[in-house]
Amino acid sequence: MDETSASIEITPLPAFSDNYLWLIHAGKHALIVDPGDAEVVEQALQAMHLELTGILLTHHHADHTDGAAALQKHWQCPVYAPDHNQPAYTRLETIRVKAGDHIQLPQFATLTCEVLELPGHTLDHIAYYVNQHHLFSGDVLFGAGCGRLFEGSPAQMFASLQKIASLAPDTLIYAAHEYTAHNIAFAQTIDPDNLALQQRATQTRDLRSQNIPTLPSPLSLELATNPFLRCEQLSRQTAFKDWQPLDVFTELRARRNQF
Ligand SMILES: [Zn+2]
Repeated sequence: MDETSASIEITPLPAFSDNYLWLIHAGKHALIVDPGDAEVVEQALQAMHLELTGILLTHHHADHTDGAAALQKHWQCPVYAPDHNQPAYTRLETIRVKAGDHIQLPQFATLTCEVLELPGHTLDHIAYYVNQHHLFSGDVLFGAGCGRLFEGSPAQMFASLQKIASLAPDTLIYAAHEYTAHNIAFAQTIDPDNLALQQRATQTRDLRSQNIPTLPSPLSLELATNPFLRCEQLSRQTAFKDWQPLDVFTELRARRNQF
């Protein structure tokens, strides 16, 4: 078999207290999404006998970008970044990408990668949709939750989440933080009668008690359990009766900030 046509594998690299740096690899080649910590990535590359051939950045926050400069220096590899002038990008040699762009990597014959623009958590936030099946969603969508609004408006984040909701339901969500258990505790205060959410709470407790990541999660599971993707259904329930879905979203995000 031609070594570039190996099918891709995806491995989470835990970093800091609750980040995952996602390593995409095929044969001996690897891509890293959001390397906040270069050392974590170098150790994994060495242990797995991989060469770094590209870096994908979703947004400018330090826990997603701080390792990129050292990795680029060592591996001389391209860094793909949002088309915004953030210091996190201008100090690197970057290839700027925007909505609808397709990234082609000669070392990964079996990989397609489409860029989605998903502002809300930050204004520059993008996601990488690999093989129309794996969504690297950064800090937009989390297991049973969504990112805080540091720069964007509720309407922008709501539209970004709707964009994700419209992808194929078997899409897998590779979020950048392990927040699922706390998000589920919040979701249960909003949607206590949701059986799928109750099942997910049990499953999540089991996984976390063994220190197993709850991610990636299928989009279908998020659609069934994530309150931030269920604003329309919630607007038909007593607590939010006749609210607009965007108003439900805005209220949920505000309550989650205090939870
Ligand atoms: Zn962030």
